[in-house]
Amino acid sequence: MSKTCTCGTSKLDRFGENVFSLKTMRNYLSENAYQKLVSTIVKGEALDHSIADEVAEAMKTWSLEKGATHFTHLFQPLTGVTAEKHEAFLMPDREGGAVATFSGKELIQGEPDASSFPSGGLRATFEARGYTAWDPTSPAFVRENPKGGTVLCIPTVFCGWHGDALDKKTGLIRSQHALAKQITRLGKLFGIKATTRPFATLGPEQEYFLIDRKFYEKRLDLLQTGRTLFGSRPARHQQMEDHYFGHIKPRIMAFMDEVNLELWKLGVPARTQHNEVSPAQFEIAPIFEEQNLAVDHNVVTMHVLQEVAERYGLVCLLHEKPFAGVNGSGKHNNWSVAGSDGKNWLSPGNTPHDNAKFLTMLCVVMKAVDTHAALLRAAVATAGNDHRLGANEAPPAIISIFLGEQLTDIIQQVEKGGAKSSKAAGLIEIGASTLPKLPRDATDRNRTSPMAFTGNKFEFRAVGSSQSCAGANVVLNTITAWAIDELCTEIEAKMAAGKKDMNTVLQGVLQGIIRKHKRILFDGDNYTDEWKAEAAKRGLPNLVKTPDALAVLQDRKTVALFEKYGVFSARETKSRYEVYLHAYHQTVTLEGFCALRMARTMVLPAAYRYLAELGTAQAALPKGATAGIPAAVKEAASLAEAASDAAATLEKALHAHDSDATLAAMLALRTAADGLENMVPANLWPLPSYAEMLFLM
Ligand code: ADP
Ligand code: MG
Repeated sequence: MSKTCTCGTSKLDRFGENVFSLKTMRNYLSENAYQKLVSTIVKGEALDHSIADEVAEAMKTWSLEKGATHFTHLFQPLTGVTAEKHEAFLMPDREGGAVATFSGKELIQGEPDASSFPSGGLRATFEARGYTAWDPTSPAFVRENPKGGTVLCIPTVFCGWHGDALDKKTGLIRSQHALAKQITRLGKLFGIKATTRPFATLGPEQEYFLIDRKFYEKRLDLLQTGRTLFGSRPARHQQMEDHYFGHIKPRIMAFMDEVNLELWKLGVPARTQHNEVSPAQFEIAPIFEEQNLAVDHNVVTMHVLQEVAERYGLVCLLHEKPFAGVNGSGKHNNWSVAGSDGKNWLSPGNTPHDNAKFLTMLCVVMKAVDTHAALLRAAVATAGNDHRLGANEAPPAIISIFLGEQLTDIIQQVEKGGAKSSKAAGLIEIGASTLPKLPRDATDRNRTSPMAFTGNKFEFRAVGSSQSCAGANVVLNTITAWAIDELCTEIEAKMAAGKKDMNTVLQGVLQGIIRKHKRILFDGDNYTDEWKAEAAKRGLPNLVKTPDALAVLQDRKTVALFEKYGVFSARETKSRYEVYLHAYHQTVTLEGFCALRMARTMVLPAAYRYLAELGTAQAALPKGATAGIPAAVKEAASLAEAASDAAATLEKALHAHDSDATLAAMLALRTAADGLENMVPANLWPLPSYAEMLFLM
C-alpha cells in the first residue's frame, strides 16, 4: 500500500507483508521466471514447470527470512475447512549440520497420505494416496503463530490417483474456466475485443458470534457440536434491535483491530466490521477479489477469527445457528463477473452497449437460477444450515431472485417487446429498442431474499457461516456458463439463419427467457407463509432438509450438467453426494449423542436436585401451608418426566440410525429441558444461560 498516511507507520502499510505476492516475487525471482509466473497468475496460462525450482528456492529464501521452519500444502477437503501437513525445510548434511532445502518438485506436488479423507468411494484403501498440486493463482503466504511455529503455506488443490477431485477447489477452478469460456463467447457476439481473461468476482460477508471462553468451557454442546443443544431464550435478546450496527465494545474493538492486522498481513483486504442483529453477533467483510482468491481468503478469515478470539479470552462461533431463537449466521456471497473487456457485466452502464450486456446478464442469471434452483439449494445444504434457512431471519429454502422495483419494471417492458418508459426519467437506446436509464443505486434493499441483486452484483445469502464458499460458487459459475451457452447457441443459430441485426435477435431471445423464467422473481417478504404457498403454485422447489436438497446431485440432469462443462465427472458428482449426505447424518448423530449425555448427566440431575429441595422445603413448612410447592413439584416432575421420556426416545432413534427421529426427539428433549431451566434455581442449573453467553463479554 502506498503511504498516504504522514503520521508514521500505519497498520495499513503492513498489508501483504506475509504474502509471496507479485510485488515480493520481483525481488526474489529472475525476470524470466517472474514473467512466466505472471503469465500463469494474471493471464491464466499453463504453468511452465521449468521455473519450479527457481520459484521454490525464492519462496524458501523469503519464508526463512520471515522465520519459517516448515512448509505445508494447504488444501480444502470435502469435510473440514482446510487440511495441512507440515514439513520442515530441514536436510541434515554429512558433517552433522543441516541445510534448508525446498525443491520445485516439493512446491508443485505433495503426496499426503490421505486415506482418512472422505472420498465417497472414489478411492479404495490400496490407492489411498492423494495428491496436492500447487495453485499458483492463490499466492503462498507465511503464517505466524505468536506462541511459536511459522509456516510457509502453499494453497493447493487435492485429488486422487486417477485425478478425481477430492477437494473444494478443483471444481471451483474448473467451473471458473467454463464460465470464462462462455463469457468470452458472449463477448464476441457483442463485438467485444477480448483484452483480458474474464473471471468471477466474490466478496463474502462473514457473520460470527463471540462469547467469553469461561462460558464456552462449561457448554459441552458448544465444545462438541458448535451449537447450543439446550438453552431457554432470555427475556431480552435481539428484540430491541439495538445491537445491529450498535456501538462496538472496547474488548471487541481490540479483537477486531487485531483480526484486521492479521488479515492485512496475509493480504486479505478486510474492510468493514459491525455488530450484527443478535447480541454477541458480528460481521466482517472484505473488498471483493477474484473468486478463487476470495474463497481462500475467506477460509483464512475464519481461521484468523478463531485464533485471535482465543488471545482475547473469547471463542468465535462460526456455526450457522449457535443459539436457537435469535439470528443465525450466514455468509453473503456477493458474486459478479468481470468480462473480457475488464468491466463488471452486472453493472448497469452508461451506453446502450453496456446496458444490453447488463440486461443479458440479468436474464442469463434468471434462467440459470430458475432452472437450477434445487442445485443451488443443494450447494448450501448442511445439517447446520438447515437450522437457519427457513427460520425467520434467514432466506428460506425456496430460491428466488430479488431485482427491485425499477429493474423488475424494465424486465417487464423487455418482455413486452422493448422498454419505452421507466419509473425513472430518461431513455437509453439499445439498438432497435429503447431502454430507460439505469442509475447505479436504483436497487432497493430486501433482506429476506436468498438471491438479491444489489447494484452491481448478486448477493447469494443462503451460504452457511461455517461453509467454504467454494460449493456455492461452483454452482453459480456452472449454471451461469450453461445459461450463456444456451443463449449464445440460440443467437448464433438465428444469425446463421440470415438474421443480421444482433440487437433484434437479442431482444427476441431475452423476451423468451423472461417469459419462461419470470416465476423466479420475487420482491416481497420471503419469510411469509403466503410466499410459501405462492412459490408452490409457481412450481419452485422448497427443499427444507439437507437429504432432500442433496437428492438433486443424483439427478441425471445434474450429472450431465457438471460433465458437459468439465466441472465434475459422474464419479465425482456421485462421490460428493455420498460425502455430504454422510456428513449430514454424522452431524445429526453426534449432536444426538451429545444431547443424550447432557440430558442424563446435567439436565435431569439438576431437576432431581430441585425436586429434592422442594421436598425439604415442604417438610419445613408449618402444617397446612403449601407455599405453592405442590404446584412447583407437579410442574418440575412433569417436565423431568417429559425430558426422561424424550431421552429414551432419542436413544432409540440413535440406535436405529434414524436422523429424522433423532432430530424430533432432540427437539422434544430440548423443549422439556428449557422448561426446566426456566424454573430450576439458577445455582442448580449446570449450564451457562443464554443471557450470560450473549451479554457478558
Ligand atoms: P452491503 O451489501 O452490506 O451493503 P457492500 O455494498 O459494501 O455491503 O458489499 C458487500 C460486499 O460485496 C463487499 O465484500 C464488496 O466488496 C462486495 N462487492 C462489491 N462489488 C462486487 C462485485 N462486483 N463482485 C463481487 N463482490 C462485490
Ligand atoms: Mg450485503
